[in-house]
Amino acid sequence: MRTPEKFYRALHRIADARIDDVAGAFVRAIQSIQTNVKLSDLEEAVRSRDLRRIARLLGLDDRLPITANSTGPGVAGVVARTQVAAAQATASTMGALVRARLDLVRPETVAFARGEMTAVAPPQVGRARVRSAQLVRRVSNATKSGIREIISESVQGEFDVREAARRIRSIVGLRPDQRETLNRARAKLVAEGRFSQERIDRVAQRLLRQRGILIARTETIKASSAGQTQAWEDARQQGLIDPKFTRVFWIVTPDDRLCPICEMIPSLNPDGVPLGVPFESPVGPVFEPPDPHPSCRCSRALEFREVSERLAA
Ligand SMILES: [Zn+2]
Repeated sequence: MRTPEKFYRALHRIADARIDDVAGAFVRAIQSIQTNVKLSDLEEAVRSRDLRRIARLLGLDDRLPITANSTGPGVAGVVARTQVAAAQATASTMGALVRARLDLVRPETVAFARGEMTAVAPPQVGRARVRSAQLVRRVSNATKSGIREIISESVQGEFDVREAARRIRSIVGLRPDQRETLNRARAKLVAEGRFSQERIDRVAQRLLRQRGILIARTETIKASSAGQTQAWEDARQQGLIDPKFTRVFWIVTPDDRLCPICEMIPSLNPDGVPLGVPFESPVGPVFEPPDPHPSCRCSRALEFREVSERLAA
């Protein structure tokens, strides 16, 4: 007996409903850096050519306010809420088969998602924290490489220190390819004689929002998969499902129908996999969506052999 395959729709709804919140939290976090840094301080730091000093001034690394900020729960908070909602939905669909209860989801996780930070760090919440720490590192590192680039251009005399400070402020949070896009937009505005600081700032903000949405799409799907895994794991720990008789199946949803990577996964794992064991895939072992590729929207279902065998007996 299998948990419903169409359940992926519920997981997608849970993830998609929070895309704007995650994107908004990301954009606000970066904007708070941009508005809080004084251009004159940044200029001073650029003049020293000390990358660490500039990074500190911008609050990169640990102080990057993605995890939580004064305006809301931040990216990590929304992601944790997504995970809890997915875990609760998963637990409730398993109800008839495994007597799962809604309160199955670890209370510590729920407390974290509500913003009541506790001293306990259960593994699943730990995972949400690890992911947001990875995001912070990725954003910080990309920004630092941008700063390095701008400083070396400024040293070569392409523009003055004031302009370098302005450019550094505008590339916080952008990916390298987005910095390229911004540079091309600036060159075009200059060539057309339409350059103004406001115009280029608007382009930078638009790129920042695009990045926020991409991050949000990946993080919300990750969180809903993690919630599903968590509910299964909690049910296993509470003895509600017997891993000996449980197989996990990979489901290619219509959203991923044309993906050549994911298309192969069901046939590479014709008998499913035991709980906690990765699936074979063309890109190596994968545990859960979106592991195979960015913006993967696949799903998984459980099959309880014990129930089927008992019904057949
Ligand atoms: Zn996929």
